[in-house]
Amino acid sequence: MIDFTNLAQRPIIDSHVHFIHPECMDEMLALFDTIGYRAANLVCLPNPNGSTQNDIAFAFKKQYPNRIFVSGAVEYRLLLEQPERFAADLPRQVRALIGRGFDGMKMIEGKPNVRKMVNLRLDDPAYDGLWETVEQEQFPLLLHIADPDFFWDPESCPDWARKNGWDYTDGSYPSKSALYTEVDHILARFPRIRMTLAHFKFMSTDLEAADAFLAKHPSVSFDLAPHLDMYFDFSANATAARTFFIKHSDRILYGTDLDTRVLKRGPDGNRFMRSVASLIRRFLEWEGPFRHTDGKMVHALNLPDDVLDKIYFQNFERIYSTSPSPGNYPSIMNS
Ligand SMILES: [Zn+2]
Repeated sequence: MIDFTNLAQRPIIDSHVHFIHPECMDEMLALFDTIGYRAANLVCLPNPNGSTQNDIAFAFKKQYPNRIFVSGAVEYRLLLEQPERFAADLPRQVRALIGRGFDGMKMIEGKPNVRKMVNLRLDDPAYDGLWETVEQEQFPLLLHIADPDFFWDPESCPDWARKNGWDYTDGSYPSKSALYTEVDHILARFPRIRMTLAHFKFMSTDLEAADAFLAKHPSVSFDLAPHLDMYFDFSANATAARTFFIKHSDRILYGTDLDTRVLKRGPDGNRFMRSVASLIRRFLEWEGPFRHTDGKMVHALNLPDDVLDKIYFQNFERIYSTSPSPGNYPSIMNS
């Protein structure tokens, strides 16, 4: 059963939503209302041809300026066409996003298949101007780094991951620890970046390492966008997870990875997205074990109200803003 009426009303902001299909605007808004969102952060990705999803998400913000934050992607056309100009262009790109009224940036370039495709280490000097500018401007950045461990494991890499191109077992992809090292290098040089690491930095199986990482990097947060196994990992150590969530309650952001690509699958996709949001909200709010729609057991954390408020919206408001930045819409977007 997917039901949100038995969860507390809060002005929730979903920090991690993908909006790629303009025709899904109404369905997305209906989902926000059903799940109980005041606002959402649309996180944009680069397209394989080097363009981005930025304009599609930004058009949603134009329609609903009080509910839609947008985090823009890096544009890679220059890297493909005139690579010698790419590095110098990145600070301009960051400032252009700020000038247009984007609320932050999203980078998926630390996901192994994307990292392999772009073929630039995140700590490559080409990116220096980007890190420097987002730090200087305190422009929030959501970074996807690594992936679940089992994507590298020939024994346990699941078929659905293989189908999506996320089988990293052939040795041609950077390892998880190599990717973590790249992030460590960035943060050593730019420690004030307002960085959120998506999917709990894929550290749900190692809360001790996650704890040490957050302690070392006070400007960094984690979001709760699943891979779903995260929630089963937390459940396997519910007492430790609860302690972690309370200790780091200022550093965790609610997020679901709602995605129009899933909504395009039809009613099943919509139901799946609701089941994900419902799983996360129950995990945070309820007490004790409950059964997720796929039959697996989750152990809820029963977090105190003040912790829930931080995770659901206050941390987002501190890192981003209490309301979306007003967009500047050139006439080309009106046509
Ligand atoms: Zn995502």
